[in-house]
Amino acid sequence: MAFIIAGLIGAMFDAFAWGLAITGISYITWHYLQLRKLHIWLKNPDLKDPPDSYGLWGAIFDDVFRLQNRQKKSRKRLKAVIRRVQDSTTALRDGVLMVNNNGELEWWNESAGRLLGLKEQHDIGHPITNLVRAPEFKEYFEHSQYDTPLEIPSPVNHEQILQITLTLFGKKDRLIVCRDITHMKQLEAMRHDFIANASHELRTPLTVISGYLETFIEYKDQVPSRWGRALDQMHQQSQRMENLINDLLMLSRLESGHDLQHVKVPMPAVLKRIQNDALELSAGKHTITMECESVDIIGNESELCSAFSNLIFNAIKYTPDGGEVHIKWFKDHKGLNLSVQDNGLGIDSMHIPRLTERFYRADPSRHSETGGTGLGLAIVKHVLLRHDGQLEVKSAIGKGSTFTCHLPASRAA
Ligand code: ADP
Repeated sequence: MAFIIAGLIGAMFDAFAWGLAITGISYITWHYLQLRKLHIWLKNPDLKDPPDSYGLWGAIFDDVFRLQNRQKKSRKRLKAVIRRVQDSTTALRDGVLMVNNNGELEWWNESAGRLLGLKEQHDIGHPITNLVRAPEFKEYFEHSQYDTPLEIPSPVNHEQILQITLTLFGKKDRLIVCRDITHMKQLEAMRHDFIANASHELRTPLTVISGYLETFIEYKDQVPSRWGRALDQMHQQSQRMENLINDLLMLSRLESGHDLQHVKVPMPAVLKRIQNDALELSAGKHTITMECESVDIIGNESELCSAFSNLIFNAIKYTPDGGEVHIKWFKDHKGLNLSVQDNGLGIDSMHIPRLTERFYRADPSRHSETGGTGLGLAIVKHVLLRHDGQLEVKSAIGKGSTFTCHLPASRAA
């Protein structure tokens, strides 16, 4: 419109082109000035209200102003949420850390700083493995398999034990949670010590009692016959108590985590010995067969011997007379394996996951006949754990069971 009027006025004075040119320049200058106003306004956050204008520019300023206000409100809301999350994590007794996909520390709460000795500002952006220098932590962090938590001494206080749990999120970022478990460890140690000490103290009086009972039984014909049966039962029960104490001592030794010497264990010879003991226990009531590859293993002989004999003796105890027990020691692509297969009573599948718990019995009525301690499979589990192995149980009621110990190929001698 302005251009038409300018053109007409210009034409009246015989300067049509000049009219158009002057109007065009004024129009562009005005737009430039509005654009500049917008630029200055956007660059200067202190200027709150939009610049005065009209027409199209006035509408643009109003729209931008409205958008800005909306953005400010949502930013405020987000800040409040972040502050709340930060406040709640600060109040946590567990340490929480966020590490980016390069392994650099991004954020941590107060407890994490206290437990790991991190310094605000100074440690931000540094690789976490440089700040927590325990080699086990570095290995665990780089492994990317965080199913089980890691326990390490605190870098600040070596008497404090920390449990570290790692979770992957986003693009290989990691969330680390660290918890002080010193008190729990102390209680656990107290429990172990108590069981070990009590078992140890009970052993001596029990040995004396069983010794005397054995002597009495030797002269059974000299005592009244009604005492004979009582003596037999007392002797039997004292032997059960001795077995129980020996198993408890063995378990507490295994749990104490003391590393025994690991040497080459001649498996064929060890298994032959256990097979002979099993034949004696079975007293000809079972068929016991064995297949044994000539592969030796690196480990602790007495621990392995105790685990394997527990499995083989169980197979005899829980297989009725006339049954078969097959022992197989073999190597396959996964590693070394010892399987003990029987065609005995079998176990209901609901009991299988709990069999390695202490004193857990699949069928309590059976154990009164077998006289077991209920600790055998717990011992097997601990021995295997100490040899980086695991136990697999397959069983069906009335059909029999197969207990297989899987050990890593790296343990082959
Ligand atoms: P126990 O001293 O009672 O034998 P274990 O820890 O050795 O204790 O075994 C736990 C339970 O597992 C046993 O009570 C028994 O019910 C079951 N069990 C173990 N081995 C066998 C087997 N070969 N066949 C059937 N049941 C078994």
